[in-house]
Amino acid sequence: MIHYSCDRCKRVLSEDDLRYVVKMEIHVATDAVEMDELDDDRDQLLEIHEILERLDDSETAELADEIYQRRRHDLCADCFRKFVKNPVGAETAPVQLDFSKN
Ligand SMILES: [Zn+2]
Repeated sequence: MIHYSCDRCKRVLSEDDLRYVVKMEIHVATDAVEMDELDDDRDQLLEIHEILERLDDSETAELADEIYQRRRHDLCADCFRKFVKNPVGAETAPVQLDFSKN
């Protein structure tokens, strides 16, 4: 039997606990896409795969991580709620704009 634990708070999840799966695909933005934002996603991925093919020895494995990563995380219900409020892990809460001070 597979036991899951929350990747954020490390709590072991029982079968009765709600478990959320977060899948992330992270890749560096390429110049081609910046120049033409209407480019098809598949073209961008193809370009990334071509970059990765040129980087297949161990010395460049670290660099490859900075170009393309696919991740999967298990989260408990509490951590899921915290995650969706701040998925990029911003350090501070958004600044509340207050126009009444002037
Ligand atoms: Zn958790």
